[in-house]
Amino acid sequence: MLRKAVVIVGGGVAGLTCARNLEQQNIDYLLLEGSDRVGGRLKTDFYNGFLLDRGFHTYLTAYPEARKELDYSQLDLRHFWQGVVIWTGQKFLKFTDPFNDMPVPEEAATGHLEAISDRIRIDKLRKVLNSKSIEEIRDHEIDTDTLNGLRAWGFSDLMIDRFFRPFLGTLFMEDELSTSYKKFEFLFKMFCGGKMAIPAAGIEAIPRQILSHLPGDRVTVNAEVTGISEDNVVTLNDGRRIQAEQVILATNLPQAYRLLGYSMNPPHHQVTCAYLTLDKAPFESPVLILNGSGKGRINNICFPNHVASSYAPEGKNLVSVSILGIHNQSGTNMFSEIREELRGWFGDRVSKWRPLKIYRINYALPEQQRIRPIPDSLNALRRKNIYLCGDYCEMACINGAIESGRKIADEVVYQRALRPV
Ligand SMILES: Cc1cc2nc3c(=O)[nH]c(=O)nc-3n(C[C@H](O)[C@H](O)[C@H](O)COP(=O)(O)OP(=O)(O)OC[C@H]3O[C@@H](n4cnc5c(N)ncnc54)[C@H](O)[C@@H]3O)c2cc1C
Repeated sequence: MLRKAVVIVGGGVAGLTCARNLEQQNIDYLLLEGSDRVGGRLKTDFYNGFLLDRGFHTYLTAYPEARKELDYSQLDLRHFWQGVVIWTGQKFLKFTDPFNDMPVPEEAATGHLEAISDRIRIDKLRKVLNSKSIEEIRDHEIDTDTLNGLRAWGFSDLMIDRFFRPFLGTLFMEDELSTSYKKFEFLFKMFCGGKMAIPAAGIEAIPRQILSHLPGDRVTVNAEVTGISEDNVVTLNDGRRIQAEQVILATNLPQAYRLLGYSMNPPHHQVTCAYLTLDKAPFESPVLILNGSGKGRINNICFPNHVASSYAPEGKNLVSVSILGIHNQSGTNMFSEIREELRGWFGDRVSKWRPLKIYRINYALPEQQRIRPIPDSLNALRRKNIYLCGDYCEMACINGAIESGRKIADEVVYQRALRPV
C-alpha cells in the first residue's frame, strides 16, 4: 500500500492552494482529483471556437489572499467596465463607480439609476468599508442578513430592488438577500477596491496557474476517493488504497460529509447559465447588465468577448445569460423562454441569437446566512488528522477557497512540527 504524509482529496482552487503551500514546505503529499482535470467549479470548455466558463464568473482583482497566490500579469486579466447597466423594464440605466477610470458606455444607458440620497449612502458605505480591515468585518460580533443591513443604512426600496438584488444575486446566487451582511461587506469592499475581471483564457486559467507550480507526480486525476477508514486509509474508485498520516478533504461540503459518513446535505445555491451566439451585440462595451425590473427569470447577462476577445471566434459574439436556481426546462424550451424575455430588452433582433450550451450547477455556492466558525464537531476531526478545506470554511468565493487552502496547509505543517520525532 502506498504511504503518504498528506493526502489531499479534491483539486479545486482550495486543494491546489493547499498543495502548493505544502510543496513549498517540502511535505510529502499527493492530491487526488475525482474528475478528469483539476479546477473544480472553475472550469472553461472550448466549444465550437468559444470559451464557455461553467457558469458566469468574475474575478475581483482586490481579493487579498488570491492576489498573493496568483500572478495577475500571466493571467492576462481583462476588465469589465467598473459599474453596471440596469434594465428597469422600460430602459437601461447606468450605475457608475465614481472612482472608475474606464470610459462610461454610452450606447443604451441614458440616465443614472440612483437618487442623490442613495448615492450619498453608497459613498458613505464605501468610505466605511475602506476604513475597515477584512478581519474587522469577519470578526465583528454581530451578523445579520444583507437585506437588514441595507435597510439599516436607509437605502430606498428602489435602490435595493433595482441594484442590490440583481447585483448581489450574481455574487450570492440568491436575490432574497438572506446571505450574511458580513459577506456583503467583504464583497462590496472588494468591488470598490479593485476591478471585476476574467482571464483571457477563461476562468480555468486560475486553477491551471496554481497547478503549474506543482510537480506532475503530485497530482492524480480520475482518482475519486470513495472512503476513508478510521486509521486514515484512503480508498479510490479503482480499489487502490493509500495510507496517509493526515487527510485534507478539499471537496465541497456535501462530498466531505458523504466521505465522513454523515447523512446531512448542507444547503447550496444553484445557478443556470445559458450561452448563445449572435452576429451583432446590442452593447459593444465590457458591461455587466443586470435585470432590475423585478420581472422575468434572468438575473444578468454579459457579452464575455467584449471583455476578452478570446471568448468568441472572429466576427462572432457570445452572450452569457444567468438565471438563479435550476431552470429545468429542456434546452429548446429554455432558449425560447430566454429569447422571449430578452425581446423585451433588445427587441426582435434576439430571434437571431442562436443557442450554444446550457450549464445547470447544483452545488454552485454554499448558503451562508451567517459567517460562523466551523462547528466544533467538525473541528474535532483534526484530532483524527482529518482536515476540512474549501470555500465554505471562509466567505465562499474564489478568495475564500484559496484562503482556506493556505490556512489548512499552515495548520498541517504546524501540527507536523509538534509531533515527536
Ligand atoms: C457558476 C459559478 C459562478 C461563480 N462565480 C464566482 C465569482 O464570480 N467570483 C467568485 O469569487 N466565486 C465564484 N464562484 C464560487 C467559486 O467558484 C468557488 O467558491 C470556488 O471555486 C470553490 O473552490 P473549492 O476548491 O472550495 O471547491 P471546488 O471547486 O468545488 O473543488 C472541489 C474538488 O473536489 C473534487 N472532488 C469532489 N469529491 C471528490 C472525491 N470523492 N474524490 C476526489 N475528488 C473529489 C471535485 O471534482 C472538485 O474538483 C462561482 C461558482 C459557480 C459554480
